[in-house]
Amino acid sequence: MNLSKLDEALLPYEKKLQAIEKRRRRLGVREVDRPTYEKYITGTIERFDRRKNAFLTITPNNPFGTEIRERFIARTGYDSRKPLPNSALEPEDRISQSLTAAAWRLCREYHPQTLPVNPPEGRVEIADKAQTSRLIKKIGMFFGAELVRITRVDQRWVYKDIDIPHEYAILLVVPHAPSFIESAPSHLAGAGVADTYSRLKVASTQLADFICGLGYDAAYRETLGDNPEMLIVPTAIDAGVGEFARNGRVLSPEFGINMRIKPVTTSLPMETDKPISFNVHDFCMACESCAVYCPAQAIPYGPPTDTPIDIYNNPGYRKWYINAEKCVTFWSINKKKWTSCGGKCMVVCPWSKPPTFPHNMVRWLAIHSPAAIKKMLVRADRTVYRRKKSLKV
Ligand code: SF4
Ligand code: SF4
Repeated sequence: MNLSKLDEALLPYEKKLQAIEKRRRRLGVREVDRPTYEKYITGTIERFDRRKNAFLTITPNNPFGTEIRERFIARTGYDSRKPLPNSALEPEDRISQSLTAAAWRLCREYHPQTLPVNPPEGRVEIADKAQTSRLIKKIGMFFGAELVRITRVDQRWVYKDIDIPHEYAILLVVPHAPSFIESAPSHLAGAGVADTYSRLKVASTQLADFICGLGYDAAYRETLGDNPEMLIVPTAIDAGVGEFARNGRVLSPEFGINMRIKPVTTSLPMETDKPISFNVHDFCMACESCAVYCPAQAIPYGPPTDTPIDIYNNPGYRKWYINAEKCVTFWSINKKKWTSCGGKCMVVCPWSKPPTFPHNMVRWLAIHSPAAIKKMLVRADRTVYRRKKSLKV
């Protein structure tokens, strides 16, 4: 197949990909054979029952949610996470809540049907798996992703009773607009997150449709809302997007945790990426900023533990277990000002900076320095960015 015209059109994305690869090499980000969470597996990993997802437990009739729902209602005064009517809001809050609602709608309500598995025209055969991966990454970036990584679907990360027959997962990453997220917790920060999700929905649906057009099965996979299909954190770590961080998210060398990630799964044969290692565990041990500034105090201090907090955690690891109930309750505690936290834990993470030259120099130090220097970097970050403890509730 002559791809020269397409290659030409995709040249800016090839350059972008090369820049990402070069930056990772310069930072000393290592590609490793096995994901770094593996050494912290302490028990049997079973597929997680999505009804135990804390955000779903708030919905009525969830068998795992009776008690958490009662506590949620008692604490917040509301029986759902629905936003307040506009009439209950001051004009300024109404403007920013309208912004959030507008940013969410596409993500929440756009559920396109997956295209047919085997179009009658037959398949486009692309013999070279590495070439296919490169093409898919560039197309993903053309559709709006800032980073695209590829891994195999690990069935342990597919929710119990959900069927994903595909072999490959493509992870698309879009960072949040920093100026919106910075105000977390607020409607505006929620709008920043919602907008990122909607952009990802567009990009991943378009990528899935493109692959279906080549004659291979592909589908956007939901990771949130009422119908989550797979766990995004371990899948993204497998693909080398980043490593596991204290606040339970994936921390990437490019965006820290200031990003959202969505998967497309497919039968299209591709070369997969390796997981990466850049000492995130050591940095989180020296940092704790997300724990300090989380307004719900839902993120643990100190070293990781083997013991989950409650049934809403996925057990079997030594890790930082998040108190999801505290987090989800906080989201509805002051609906006049926010309907989701918007991610204070992302804002205060020293890694959540744009990949500019000065920030990359600090990143290099953060990766390669001993614990004492890491702690110094954290203190400097809190001073320079004038971090203040947010209200505790
Ligand atoms: S989203 Fe907000 S409440 Fe939840 S863990 Fe992060 S900072 Fe805490
Ligand atoms: S804020 Fe600090 S402890 Fe939390 S995820 Fe970021 S680096 Fe790790």
